[in-house]
Amino acid sequence: MSIRPIYLDCHATTAVDERVLAAMLPYFTEKFGNPASISHIYGWEAEAAVRQTREILAAAINATPEEIVFTSGATEANNLAIKGVAEAYFKKGQHIITVATEHSAVIDPCNYLKSLGFEITILPVQKDGLIDLTELKKAFRPETILVSVMAANNEIGVLQPLAEIGEMCHEHQILFHTDAAQAIGKIPLDVQAMKIDLMSLTAHKVYGPKGIGALYVRRRDPRVQLAPQQHGGGHERGMRSGTLYTPQIVGFGKAVEIALAEQETETQRLTQLRQRLWEQLSQVEGIHLNGHPQQRLAGNLNISVEGVDGAALLLGLQPVMAISSGSACSSTNTAPSHVLTALGHPQQLAYASIRFGIGRFNTQEEIDIVAKHAIATIQSLQNKR
Ligand SMILES: *Cc1c(COP(=O)(O)O)cnc(C)c1O
Repeated sequence: MSIRPIYLDCHATTAVDERVLAAMLPYFTEKFGNPASISHIYGWEAEAAVRQTREILAAAINATPEEIVFTSGATEANNLAIKGVAEAYFKKGQHIITVATEHSAVIDPCNYLKSLGFEITILPVQKDGLIDLTELKKAFRPETILVSVMAANNEIGVLQPLAEIGEMCHEHQILFHTDAAQAIGKIPLDVQAMKIDLMSLTAHKVYGPKGIGALYVRRRDPRVQLAPQQHGGGHERGMRSGTLYTPQIVGFGKAVEIALAEQETETQRLTQLRQRLWEQLSQVEGIHLNGHPQQRLAGNLNISVEGVDGAALLLGLQPVMAISSGSACSSTNTAPSHVLTALGHPQQLAYASIRFGIGRFNTQEEIDIVAKHAIATIQSLQNKR
């Protein structure tokens, strides 16, 4: 096998942890039952496993197991939350507020609703990527039904002030949805303290399998109404029909359980690695840090480079490291990232940018190799001009 580049693209996806895989395996073969089968042990043991993940996820965000609705991932959870609320509450109002730096899985459902006649306010962000709470307050209208603001950004790692947003929404009786795909298992989340009504989750960014996620749907104070986007056998309290994917659900639970147990030490370790990388890169002239320097995910470093062509930079880095410029979901698109553009960068600077996503399986040795190669590549490209 040829030597593969060092993986530093943990915001795109992560490897399944061996412990997660081991927990999943029996549910493909001997414990293959349908969790909806109520008349035999095959169904019961699958249902018990699903129940256990519900409990783990609920405990992770201070919810109850009944408030967890399994989906195929965060994309589906976002669609269910946003379109489900729009359809259930349109008689109350048809205005939704979101943010310019959201993932396309939030922006696109909002644009779709706009095409149906809903009004969408897209809030700008400040230079550091954080929203301005006074701007949010100004955007509130009597007909606002939903505010959707992500927990942690997938490009610049910025952590939005969830508790403050939740408080403001709650005061105005507006539902608050957060896309926590990058946040679960990495930062503390508490739907009660943060007054969150809907929260999207996914497994594959925290060392769980792809193709499984969940939506937290508040049942009390207030009881959130949601129009299902997929109809069928009435699974998941009618909100999301379809046979549950037991092995993936087991893996999701195990992944979150491990991430929570290791959250504190891993946050410290990743922060050190990120700082080590930044200390080296910041020696080079014309390198800027994108996003708030402290209020960000421990493993995220996003930089822009002056005087360098973005495509040439990526090409030079590729043999040594697997990274991405902008978000992976739009990597075929050469337009500058909508997130970096929202920070107010000139287009050229936004384009020559690198997102480092450091994760559980990265070592200090790897970080030093990456820093050394990145510096050499950047300086040689800068000297060519
Ligand atoms: C990865 C990601 C998604 C999409 O999640 P899937 O489970 O892959 O559908 C949505 N939002 C954010 C912020 C993400 O990082």
